[in-house]
Amino acid sequence: MRTSDEIRKLAKDEKIEYLRMTFSDLNGALKNIEIPVDLLDEALNNQIKIDGSSIAGFLPIQNSDMYLYPDLDTWTVYPWIINGGKTASLICDVHNSDGTPFEGDPRFVLKQLDASLAEIGCGHLNVGAEMEYFLFQADEQGRPTVDLNDQASYFDVYPADKSEACRRETINTLKKMGFAIEADHHEVAPGQSEIDFRFDDAVTTADRIQLLKLTAKTVAVKYGLRATFMPKPLAGVNGSGMHLNTSLFDGSRNLFDDPKADHGLSSLGLHYLAGILTHAPAFTAITNPSINSFKRLVPGYEAPTYVAWAIANRTALVRVPDGRGPQTRFELRSGDPSANPYLAIAAVLAAGLDGLKQKLTPPKNVEDNIYQMTADQRKSQQIVQLPASLSQALTNLKQDAVLNDTLGIVVPKYLELKQAELTKFQLSVTDWEKQTYFDA
Ligand code: GLU
Ligand code: MG
Ligand code: MG
Repeated sequence: MRTSDEIRKLAKDEKIEYLRMTFSDLNGALKNIEIPVDLLDEALNNQIKIDGSSIAGFLPIQNSDMYLYPDLDTWTVYPWIINGGKTASLICDVHNSDGTPFEGDPRFVLKQLDASLAEIGCGHLNVGAEMEYFLFQADEQGRPTVDLNDQASYFDVYPADKSEACRRETINTLKKMGFAIEADHHEVAPGQSEIDFRFDDAVTTADRIQLLKLTAKTVAVKYGLRATFMPKPLAGVNGSGMHLNTSLFDGSRNLFDDPKADHGLSSLGLHYLAGILTHAPAFTAITNPSINSFKRLVPGYEAPTYVAWAIANRTALVRVPDGRGPQTRFELRSGDPSANPYLAIAAVLAAGLDGLKQKLTPPKNVEDNIYQMTADQRKSQQIVQLPASLSQALTNLKQDAVLNDTLGIVVPKYLELKQAELTKFQLSVTDWEKQTYFDA
């Protein structure tokens, strides 16, 4: 744990001029209030105030004062200069005006839930995220378009992969911010990239997902491009996923690993996996949070549409990739990078926890292409469908008593936000409708 004095010294040594106090709203948007470094002491004493009524999913207008409590271990110097001032950021927890933690703060929800693992002797959660995104050209005014910058495909190299330079600068920037990068490459769809960084504890990984998205977007602008983490910007090609690789560790011991058991998976691991499968139809509302998310979860684009687990089969929802011992992990393939990372990881953990508490057992692994199975074949293997729309997913979430109990007040608040989004969409008239029905 870093101390306030260490932060003061870092700010001085690094000649920091501005401090960004950041947090995430319920939708997962990164928010910040910037202060000049002269006010560092106020920031370190948890005195920076925000209006919670203007933050999506936070407080009603009549009760709006909230305070930012910086997590000193998240101190990060932004490697880019914003109009002449060197800037550092601290990721903050949001507290009520009486000093108690705000239960609607997604970061707090994840922290609490992770801590509850230790109470039942199950260590803590480690998470690794695979971040996919698209780079599109910006127009002359710098506005985003969906005009592609390249026609490259999976693992292509320059000159087909024109995003190589932009991606390299993104990675170099992330490394300066303390990321341990594991891989980067062009993804399957034209214009699509992927960056993978080393796993860490759940909150740290969620913090890094937020920083990675900010960095990719910031660097892209320098190249006349715009980075987007929307799940399906282009019809007819792969969308962008955010695969979450999760494992429980007690100290240095991976609790999912059992070299003597089938597939090398411990019974604890199988209970956890069964919890994920049981609650997937409901947590999809959180891991796949938008109307656009469900345009990605369709057959044929390496994104899952059915609830099943597998060792190698990429049509399954959960895969157990190669690597046992400390590397034993479940890769959840449904989530997309537009999700609130704190809430998405918390929802998946809540599901796994239920599996542990109830000692649930998963059905057998499915190694055949699920996209090509008949309804009868799926039924005989207990394979149910993931929700096909945001509306269906929200209904599932509303009805899932375990997720509601475990995640607390964020669920009704989230449902309210998302219902409003659905209503807005239902009232909008899309280009597709105009093209299809104009001459009807
Ligand atoms: N882009 C695919 C998706 O939407 C995933 C491809 C992969 O397996 O990395 O989930
Ligand atoms: Mg990928
Ligand atoms: Mg993957």
